[in-house]
Amino acid sequence: MNYKDYIRIIPDYPQPGIRFKDITTLTNNGPVYAHAIDAIRQAVADKQIDLVAGPEARGFIIGAPLAVTLGAGFVPIRKSGKLPGEVIEASYDLEYGNDKLAIHKDAIKPGQRVLIADDLLATGGTIATTINLIRQLGGEVVGAAFLIELGYLDGRKKLDGIDIFSLMTY
Ligand code: IMP
Repeated sequence: MNYKDYIRIIPDYPQPGIRFKDITTLTNNGPVYAHAIDAIRQAVADKQIDLVAGPEARGFIIGAPLAVTLGAGFVPIRKSGKLPGEVIEASYDLEYGNDKLAIHKDAIKPGQRVLIADDLLATGGTIATTINLIRQLGGEVVGAAFLIELGYLDGRKKLDGIDIFSLMTY
């Protein structure tokens, strides 16, 4: 399947010069969404995954259905202040300023095998922070899976040593 046919490019969003990849035109098509999730499932099927972790908010759209098809649990990684239980947090830099991601302290048990899922890999900052949180809890990051990878931003370099699967590359 040519998944790129279902991605809508929105020029100058959220800022002039950015060509935003809108995945909602893929996920609002039931058969194509299911096909995409299944393609990711096949690519990671041999990893003996206990948990899928996805960063807010588009990581939920990919990570949750993936977890269900794998028979794994799903762990939400959220912006600071959103999770109700005890959390650990990590900061990361954005283009302007910085932001914090959080995970429940008891979400992952030491030694559990965790796959990270998100819609899109850009600079890798979000996923590097997600990896940091999972490892602080003793989880083993067994890979990261994306619908889209922006190859020209070299996000892979920040995720050195992590097995990366992307359904589409731009
Ligand atoms: P990174 O931290 O630079 O790798 O940015 C990745 C995050 O930014 C992901 O969680 C994406 O949801 C979001 N993102 C960046 N560019 C796009 C885009 O073109 N389309 C959709 N999401 C994007």
